[in-house]
Amino acid sequence: MKFNRFNKRNIKDLRSMEPPDRFSTGVSNLDLHSKDQSQHPACRPEAVIWPVDRNEVSEILKYANKNLIPVTGWGSGSSLEGNPIPVKAGIVLDFSQMNKIRDIREEDFQTDVEPGVIYQNLNEKLRSKGLFFPPDPGAQATIGGMIANNASGTQTVHYGSTKDHVLRLSVVLANGEIIETGTRASKTSSGYDLIHLFAGSEGTLGIVVEATLRLVGLPAEFSAAIVTFPSVGAAGKAVFEIIRSGLDPAALELLDPDCIEIINREQNLGLHVSPTPFMEYHGPTKNQLAEVMEIVREICKEEGCDEFRPGLGRKERDDLLKARHELAEMIIRKHPGCSLMVIDVAVPITGYPEIIAFVREESENTGIPGYIFSHAGDGNLHLVLMGKKGDEREWEIIDHANQRIVSKALAMGGTATGEHGVGIGKRKFMEAEHGKSLKWMKGIKSFFDPNFILNPGKIFP
Ligand SMILES: Cc1cc2nc3c(=O)[nH]c(=O)nc-3n(C[C@H](O)[C@H](O)[C@H](O)COP(=O)(O)OP(=O)(O)OC[C@H]3O[C@@H](n4cnc5c(N)ncnc54)[C@H](O)[C@@H]3O)c2cc1C
Repeated sequence: MKFNRFNKRNIKDLRSMEPPDRFSTGVSNLDLHSKDQSQHPACRPEAVIWPVDRNEVSEILKYANKNLIPVTGWGSGSSLEGNPIPVKAGIVLDFSQMNKIRDIREEDFQTDVEPGVIYQNLNEKLRSKGLFFPPDPGAQATIGGMIANNASGTQTVHYGSTKDHVLRLSVVLANGEIIETGTRASKTSSGYDLIHLFAGSEGTLGIVVEATLRLVGLPAEFSAAIVTFPSVGAAGKAVFEIIRSGLDPAALELLDPDCIEIINREQNLGLHVSPTPFMEYHGPTKNQLAEVMEIVREICKEEGCDEFRPGLGRKERDDLLKARHELAEMIIRKHPGCSLMVIDVAVPITGYPEIIAFVREESENTGIPGYIFSHAGDGNLHLVLMGKKGDEREWEIIDHANQRIVSKALAMGGTATGEHGVGIGKRKFMEAEHGKSLKWMKGIKSFFDPNFILNPGKIFP
């Protein structure tokens, strides 16, 4: 698809549609919206607009569609696969000013929010009402970006990913039409499920302008444990056995010894430097949780754990989760002059011990600093490789490792991207993962966005 570059008339038209403080062609604003947190090269848009309501988004899309100008949504820019990079330039819609929590219906466990709400701010607000929105990607993500990427996080193993918490969406389509899809009922079997089509579509099918989210009650009690193992393989096997036993952890993360070392160095947590699963259970009473922990202890002992430390207090557990969320930044700080590549795959849980052993070997073979950490409970695994900026040879090696790890995950019946989306980086694997379905995905794209103006250059190879 050939897009039009901005001309003087486009700038004049858009300026007449937007107040001056919410429309910019200034280089610093363009640069701020040219790059996410990935290693993919920056691309400047031609203008940035900060809309404040759905009608404004609709007018901009009508104009862009008529003039064949690309439009890319922007939340916080925290993606890791180049998802919001405006590779075909055009307009970036930054949703930071559409950040209102419109309603909280405590007794229905629901909230209506605009796309620019940061999920941590939402949870802050919900805490006093005894509620929370469980998907937690860690970074300062917006609800719009989380829906578009179908983000997940440490508690997805128990509570599900973002798409499991979306009940209703207001979406502006490429032609400017505003539609509502979904209901406020907690279940429905009415017609095609457009919510799950928009969720994970990375802003390529429509722009989300409001969402009704399903909330969850804060757990009455929690119980958390740290376990250490002599090898990553043994830890991976224990993860599989815990899930297989149906013990339903609320979080089950696995950190390799290099990650533990960095966390100790930066946050002084004094953890044992070994492959370390960290897990948490939620439940109604302490007694019930104590029983669960006893079974988990037995499983871990059988798999040869060195140490099983249950009964973490609130502070210790919060410190550990915080460290887990900040791990990527800590790794970056340890390697000045390098960029990070996060290889993100997921496999069926039975394959978890195999994929973790494979990834460990691949990482060692690269000779490049590598860190494995994972949302192990749902078979999701990340390998972070730190390549020197501008070192083509290293980036070739990293690319090769990515290729091999993704191919292995696909061969095991898994996916090329557990939670970071396709963006730019995973497009090349779409054919291998989806086969003939890819043609139908393209058909859906053409139906919703015949001029391909919405976030072009993403998802499809
Ligand atoms: C340190 C770190 C840790 C991370 N950990 C996790 C993790 O554990 N789990 C996880 O899932 N992700 C993780 N991520 C990736 C990222 O934070 C998530 O994908 C997050 O959901 C992106 O949200 P955002 O607001 O930054 O969106 P952006 O990056 O700004 O955009 C994401 C996508 O959404 C589109 N978009 C934005 N707003 C809208 C809208 N209103 N309508 C339609 N499309 C829109 C964009 O065009 C883009 O395609 C991590 C990132 C970092 C940097």
